[in-house]
Amino acid sequence: MKDVVDRNTVIAPQDPYIISGKNGVSELRVCKAGVKGCRNAVIDVKALAEGLMENLNNSGIEEEIISTSECPVKKHQFFTMAIAGCPNCCSQPQIKDFGLSGQAEPVKGEAECIECMKCIDVCEEEGAVQIINGVPVFNMELCVKCGKCAKVCPTESIIIKDQGVRVMAGGMIGRHPQLAYTLKELLKNNEAFSIFQLCAGLFKADKSKKRKLGAVINRLGIGEVIEKIKSTLFPKPTVL
Ligand code: SF4
Ligand code: SF4
Ligand code: SF4
Repeated sequence: MKDVVDRNTVIAPQDPYIISGKNGVSELRVCKAGVKGCRNAVIDVKALAEGLMENLNNSGIEEEIISTSECPVKKHQFFTMAIAGCPNCCSQPQIKDFGLSGQAEPVKGEAECIECMKCIDVCEEEGAVQIINGVPVFNMELCVKCGKCAKVCPTESIIIKDQGVRVMAGGMIGRHPQLAYTLKELLKNNEAFSIFQLCAGLFKADKSKKRKLGAVINRLGIGEVIEKIKSTLFPKPTVL
């Protein structure tokens, strides 16, 4: 095995928001919610970060990078990850190899709406929520699932239907920048980790020179990757 940068670093001492993999050639950036807390967070960032690091350290991704890279491994060859507690995505999961962000999906609750308009005022996506004939109505094309409207509603006329993580992969900067693909939404932590392991398998199986996960996904085709995720991790139940 070739020498690597900072092999024993667990948490980069200069930046409490970055956690390094056990071999020092991958890093996870967490948003403020994972370190100091944040009122916008809709998921437990700390628990998600611990789980993702455990998966990373068991995935063989770092070993693959070390065995196929020039020594020392350069920063742009690191496997990068980010976790954000809400759709604001302060830790920039959209430009990482693998990213997760918290989501909270709002729906109309049973309680009567008093037309205080607090939900309209707090929503930053114009038209995502409207009050029509005294009832909250959502446009899910516009809603980013931040959950704020439910938080401010004094009557529970808006409630959170589902909470989870949006899974993104394939983001990168450098020579050929691209934003990450969204692979699945509103997942539980263990479901997101299963997708991570599937992506790790694709990454390790690709032996070409361009070793960013984004390039690997581009070569396979995003449709193919999403189909693989659906068929292996989320198969439709058989109708008898
Ligand atoms: S991503 Fe959301 S939860 Fe995390 S620090 Fe930013 S605003 Fe707070
Ligand atoms: S969840 Fe957020 S984006 Fe969606 S309607 Fe509510 S406040 Fe607006
Ligand atoms: S849904 Fe809730 S926050 Fe929105 S107007 Fe009705 S009572 Fe107010």
